[in-house]
Amino acid sequence: MSFILNAPWIAVQAEQLLAQRGHAWLLSGPSGLGQYDLALSLVSAWLCEKPAPQGACGVCGSCHAIQVRTHADLCVLMPETVMLELGWPLSEKAQDEIDKKTRKPSREIRVDAMRDAVEFSQRTNARGQGKAVLVYPAERMNNITANALLKTLEEPPGDVKFVLATESAHQLLPTIRSRCLAHTMRWPDTLQALSWLADQGFDGPEAEVLLHAAGGRPADVLRQAASGQTPAWWSSFPQAMARGEVAALSDLNPSQAIDALQKLSHDLVLRQSRAAPRFFSSDTLPKSKASLSTLTGWYKRLTTAARSSEHPFNAGLMLEALASEARLAITATH
Ligand SMILES: [Zn+2]
Repeated sequence: MSFILNAPWIAVQAEQLLAQRGHAWLLSGPSGLGQYDLALSLVSAWLCEKPAPQGACGVCGSCHAIQVRTHADLCVLMPETVMLELGWPLSEKAQDEIDKKTRKPSREIRVDAMRDAVEFSQRTNARGQGKAVLVYPAERMNNITANALLKTLEEPPGDVKFVLATESAHQLLPTIRSRCLAHTMRWPDTLQALSWLADQGFDGPEAEVLLHAAGGRPADVLRQAASGQTPAWWSSFPQAMARGEVAALSDLNPSQAIDALQKLSHDLVLRQSRAAPRFFSSDTLPKSKASLSTLTGWYKRLTTAARSSEHPFNAGLMLEALASEARLAITATH
């Protein structure tokens, strides 16, 4: 499921990066800007049999092999949960373990997968266009896997190129960052983003509400829409939270709920500081007498909660606690 590959702002960046030499790129920026898609554009062009300055031809044997996820000279290094989500096949051994329920798909890039990648980069290439390793999201490497990758980046075995894509560059080892050419993802302007969203079936004023809700990051619009966050829901969400209505959170999992609440507290902090809200339109925000320190305290507690939200012991209880905390913060009188 590749959302954004042909978006104009990705194509421009691909052409710029392809014009430069470099055997390792680090693409960074917040979620929703398309770093995975840009990374895939780069490896496709590197491995293409007839690449143009704009990128891969899209029709040769190599391009086809990437489209069907079976290119022998491409190694994708991702957490298993992300591989499954993006439609990349797992190694036979990993798939077998998951099928037999010996373990769950991993949320980190596994040491085994890194070992395979190091071995891959030392092999001779199969199709004659060199080899490529795509790492995403690169911040999901632990210290062991990151150090193994670092060794390969320091002594690259000739014909292999790397692209690392991340949504949290600050979580990467500084030594990894320093071994790569850095590229900061460009933001699409609103018109580009809206016209791309229209192609995906979101248009009119609703698309604007959704883009606003996603902080201007188009791929996040699709992600949020997939989790049931409609424009009507988004517009009514701040008032519902001022009333502590847990039902407004019931379609979300805890991390989605925390994300939405962080945006709400962020906007209330902005309004308190006399700045324009970023995610909600002003007229949907509830009146609040809460002080700046109450609101920032709430925001900080949400940030802490976000770290443990992937494995809450009881999701229902967590949502209730989140809704009641939201009400307390918004209706606070100091
Ligand atoms: Zn091609």
